[in-house]
Order: sequence, then structure tokens, then C-alpha cells
Amino acid sequence: AAPKDHTTVPGRVRVAVRLRPRNAEESVADADFADCVELQPELKRLKLRKNNWDGETYEFDEVLTEFASQKRVYEVVARPVVESVLDGYNGTIMAYGQTGTGKTYTLGRLGEEDTAARGIMVRAMEDIFANVSLETDSVSVSYLQLYMETIQDLLDPANDNIAIAEDPKTGDVSLPGATLVEIRDQQSFIELLSLGEAHRFAANTKMNTESSRSHAILMVHVKRSVKGRDASHSSENGNHPHMVKSLKPLIVRKAKLVIVDLAGSERIDKSGSEGHMLEEAKSINLSLSALGKCINSLAENSAHVPIRDSKLTRLLRDSFGGTARTSLVITIGPSPRHRAETASTIMFGQRAM
Ligand code: ADP
Ligand code: MG
Repeated sequence: AAPKDHTTVPGRVRVAVRLRPRNAEESVADADFADCVELQPELKRLKLRKNNWDGETYEFDEVLTEFASQKRVYEVVARPVVESVLDGYNGTIMAYGQTGTGKTYTLGRLGEEDTAARGIMVRAMEDIFANVSLETDSVSVSYLQLYMETIQDLLDPANDNIAIAEDPKTGDVSLPGATLVEIRDQQSFIELLSLGEAHRFAANTKMNTESSRSHAILMVHVKRSVKGRDASHSSENGNHPHMVKSLKPLIVRKAKLVIVDLAGSERIDKSGSEGHMLEEAKSINLSLSALGKCINSLAENSAHVPIRDSKLTRLLRDSFGGTARTSLVITIGPSPRHRAETASTIMFGQRAM
């Protein structure tokens, strides 16, 4: 097994920044201009340029350049969280940033034509399947969209207003109305996710909105049966579980991995928009700022985590803080034209640390 990453401690958010390469248009239109950021990955630093030679420098847990592979991004951002989910602790992986900076590329790419391009969701499932025993363990997924404070089931489009249930004693959050599909292999997961994507596209077309205006949420429930003592080696001792005469009690370990492709963080010009667009902008602003406040209060070890302020944070209540592991990747683009948005994304990431 890969070594455990001890820098991911419960109750603290690990923050990585990822820079998207220039696209064709930016390469041409901004050919005479430097990128708005300068990355120093060895030092885990990023400089937000004011002009070509100076600017403010920020430190992150990880700085991923435009050359970072999907595999490396998975290892840095997601693997420690997935490992702790396999150990029985809830975990969250989120991507935050302006639309077009690579959140979906980072999390949701299926990479059907090119496995090297696979994103964090697919790699996480692969890692989970490699570590569980389907004889005794189960892996089930739900896939949801959170739009204007309404949770929609992407695995069953008719199910378009799912309620959040909270266990008052344990604080466990569940979605009793959401489709939960047990899956046994990687291929079925990819098929399920593409079906969910198709449903998402259809639902958004119907509501006349862009997918960047909602949060996409993948929930993976991992349930493992491990022996009472020496439990962590139970699946590696080469014995078939039902062939072992053991007096050790079986312990069921349940954990949940939540992967969130957040709505675009860009400021919508509220003066210019009205009606539906304005409501949409307000709703995104509400949930992202509630998320920011919750992350900040974790970073500051504050006793009050304002979880109830939005559906997004209510949904994450048991996947956040406590013994849960949280990893945030902020995505930025290189274009000097989007410097203000890039600066605001960097500040969101900084406040989380
Ligand atoms: P977002 O989900 O943040 O709106 P996307 O993931 O859709 O952004 O990315 C926008 C465009 O940039 C897509 O065409 C995507 O393929 C491309 N892109 C994003 N990140 C990278 C990357 N690291 N390397 C190459 N292309 C990228
Ligand atoms: Mg996207």
C-alpha cells in the first residue's frame, strides 16, 4: 500500500491550487502578455502578478502547474481522503473556481478514450475497488445536482426535490429519497456517471441554465466488514472470508466520500441581471459563501461552524470537520484578463488554510 499522508489531518482543510494551461484563444489573444500568476511548485508557492516583475506571494499545501498530470493531481488532492474513507472516516473533495478553469476536468473527466485523462471521481472509484473485497464489502453511489437550494437526483430525473435527513443523535446526514446504486466494477461506475451527466444536461436545458450554475455532487458509500482485531489486514491475509473459522466479531465500518464540483465562483454582474439570473446568482453566492464560512471556522478552530446557512453545507455536515478529511482544489486560469477572478479564488483558498 502507498504510504499514508500525515499532512492530511482531520478538521483541517488541505488546499491545492491547479493552473489550467492556456487555451488556443488565450495563446493567440494574450500572446504578448505574461500569465497573471507565476508558480513555484517546489516551494509550494504562487505569485499573483501585479505586473511582470512583482506581486503578492501565497503558500498552499500543493501547487500544481499546467503540466501536472491527472494522476499526480489525484495522488496529491484525493488519495489521502480516499484512504481515510477506506479506513472508515468520511471525506470530502471539492473543486472551487471560476467557470472554465478546470473543475470538471479535474474531478469529472471520464477518460473513456484516454485513461490518462481520467479525473478524480473515476480514479477514486478505481482505488476503492482495488481495496475492498466485494465478498464482504459494498460500494454504492448517488449522483446529485444542487441548484437554487433544490437537490435533484441525477440518477432519476423524476426525483427533483430531495430532502436532507439529519440524525439528531449522531449528526449523520442522509438523503433517503435519493437513488443509491450498488456497483461492483469500474465500468458500471463510468456508465452510471455518463447517464447522470446526460440527465444533468437535459434537466439544465429544461430549466434554461448552465451546468456551471449548479453544484454536482457524487456520494460514495463504502461499507466494509472487518474483523474485530487486526481489522486493517483482514482483506489482505489471503484467506477467503467464509473459509476462515474466526471467533473475532465482524465490525461493520461505514464511510462516505463526497466529491463536489462546485458552481462557478465568478461574480455575476448583479446590476445587469434580473429575474431568474439574479436569483440564480444570489443562490450560488449564498452557498459558496456559506461553504467559505464553514471552511474558515474549521481553519480557525472556531466553535461555531455555520452549517445551517445553506443546503450545500447541511449536506456536508458529517463529511466536514470532526474526524472527516477534507481536500479542496482551487482551479485558476492563466489569463491576465481574469486576474480579478483569479485573485478572488486564491483568497478563498487562503482563507481555508
Ligand atoms: P470548469 O468545470 O471549471 O468550468 P472545465 O473543466 O470545463 O472548467 O475546463 C474548461 C476547458 O479547459 C475544457 O475544455 C477543459 O478540457 C480544459 N482544461 C481544463 N483544465 C485543463 C488541464 N489541466 N489541461 C488541459 N485542458 C484543461
Ligand atoms: Mg464544470
